[in-house]
Formats: sequence, structure tokens, C-alpha cells
Amino acid sequence: MRTPRIALPLCLVLLPLAVEAAQPVELPAVRLIATGGTISSRPGGRLTAAELVALVPALDRHVRAETEQFSNLPSSELTVTAWLALARRVNRLLDERPALSGIVVTSGTDTLEEVAYFLHLTVRHTRPVVVVGAMRPPGTLGYDGAANLLHAFRVAAAPASVGRGVLVVLNAEIHSARDVTKANAQGLDAFGSREYGRLGVVGHDRVLYYGRTDRRHTWRSEFDVSAIDRLPRVDVLLAYQGAPGDLIVAAAARGAAGVVVAASGAGSMSPSQLDATRLVLRRGVAVVVASRTGGGRVVPRPGTGPRKRRLPAPPRRVMGEDLSPVKARVLLMLALTHTREQAEIQRMFQEY
Ligand code: ASP
Repeated sequence: MRTPRIALPLCLVLLPLAVEAAQPVELPAVRLIATGGTISSRPGGRLTAAELVALVPALDRHVRAETEQFSNLPSSELTVTAWLALARRVNRLLDERPALSGIVVTSGTDTLEEVAYFLHLTVRHTRPVVVVGAMRPPGTLGYDGAANLLHAFRVAAAPASVGRGVLVVLNAEIHSARDVTKANAQGLDAFGSREYGRLGVVGHDRVLYYGRTDRRHTWRSEFDVSAIDRLPRVDVLLAYQGAPGDLIVAAAARGAAGVVVAASGAGSMSPSQLDATRLVLRRGVAVVVASRTGGGRVVPRPGTGPRKRRLPAPPRRVMGEDLSPVKARVLLMLALTHTREQAEIQRMFQEY
């Protein structure tokens, strides 16, 4: 049988296409910046960033992993100065490496939500920054660190993650750094996003999102820490029955530029704490009222009730909206780098 005359020219056209299709596709480059935590806390010595990556099976099918050791500490030992250095490092890396798809940051889980929210407000890029940890240390039965790391790398490499702010990945779930909180001291499902729920999941097949946060973050944030080497001190004090206000006064006397009251309900605190907030407000200390309940908003209310008659709404108390007290502290520290104006700080709590 004769070959149709069209066959040879067609082959010549298709051959280069076939060769191109056979070229290996360049995998996305993702940098791991390790800070420590249970995920690397092997008995007898902490794992380095490079050792962590080596624990993840078939990682090289998904990404080109790079590693960098920032620190190797429990999250409870990370300082505010370290947050600043980490934010600057992440920003510099994303500035210098336009081809880097994303960054994974390991952290201890106990205070992971604080450093993650700080990065959410201070990283000035749209590319994904994913914070990850583990509930069980390496070497124990059911170590969750390798799976969490693989998921975090996949989320950092996924185009669908771009522009969603800093993400937190554990237990195959994706959370916004704004809303995530550690809500269980032991469980593998310790992390949740309170009443808002997770943003997405990491499936076998793909990284899948169900939502995004509308509040300002990362590239839409006004906070630039590139030239800041310290943050003002802000303390959190808990409201409870009979809580003494003198601790608020003491925080101010020790140099706190701001105080967050983890208030009961929608913003109540003890009479002694109310008196103390009035006193420190007069001394120029910013006071933010957040709720210790874990849900709902704290917002300005028209003055009603006996407490309001005894103490007219102080002019400079900021209502913390739905931010948890520890997140309110992060935002207040950044806010105080710009302003001490109550109305301006209130605006920030409404926007972030
Ligand atoms: N103690 C550890 C930490 O926060 C807990 C963890 O990593 O899960 O550093």
C-alpha cells in the first residue's frame, strides 16, 4: 500500500511537537525555611531543614525543594524580633527570586498562629507562604510531620494558592493565618478556623479551595517592616470574675505601648479592669478589647447599663472585632508602628 502523499510533511510538522511534549516539565521551586517545633524535634537532637525534607517520600515528584535553616527552637521561644527577621527574609527571598513558586515555613504548633498572622500582615507578595507544623515528633508512631510537609509543599506550589495570604496547613486542611487557631493540646486535628471553617483541603488529586478571606493581607497590607527592627510592647490580659486592674497598670508601667484585654463575652471586664483601662488610656496607652470566647465580634455599642453609667465609654478604647486576643496583639503591635490615634487603629481592626 502506498503511503498517502500528505504523511511525510505531517510527520515533519508533528515531530518537533512530540519532542517538546517529551521534555521533562520544570517542577515549581519551593523554599523551606525551618524555624523548629515538634515537626523537627527528634529525641536526642533536632532535625535540620535538609533532614526534614529527606523524610518526605516522593517530594521530588511535586516540587524542587530548597532548604534554609532560620532557627531550630520551640515556637514558645520565638521572639518578636525573630518575627521581624523572618518577615524580612521571606520578603527579600520573594523579591530576589521571581521564579520561586512559594515558601514553606515550619513552626512549633503552640504559638504558630501568632507568627503566621504576623507574616500574613507583613509579607508583601501574592505568592503563597505556607506555615506548617506537626503534632507528633519524628520517630514516634504516627508522626504527622512528613505528610504535613508534603501537603504544605504542594499548597505552596499550587497556582490556586496565589493571592490568598499566608496559609496554614496541617492534617490535610488549609486555613487562613487570620482565622486559624490551635484548639486542642494533643489531637492531630488540633487546628481549626473557628466559626469560619477551613479555606480548602489537600486531596490526593489536587489542592482544592472552598473560600478565601476578604480582609486585607499580604500585598494589600499597609504594614512594611523592611525598615523596622523592633516592635512596641503589647501585653494581653485576661478578664475573669474579680480580675484585678492593677496588672493592666503594671503592664503600662513596664513599658507596654498597648494592652489587649481578652474580655469576657462581647467585651466585658471587671470593674477594676475598667478603671485601669481608663487610667492607662489617659497615659497614652492603646487598649484593644477582644473576646476570650473564641467567636463573634467586639464592636462599639451605644452606652447602656449600669457599668456604662459609672464609666462613660472611654474615648480611646479600640474594639477588637472578631480577632482572637493573641491576633489582636499582633495587629496592635503593627498598628502602633504607624499611629497612636484611636480612630486610625479602629479602622485597621475593621479592615484586617
Ligand atoms: N512545643 C512545640 C512548639 O510549639 C509544639 C509543637 O511544635 O507542636 O514548638
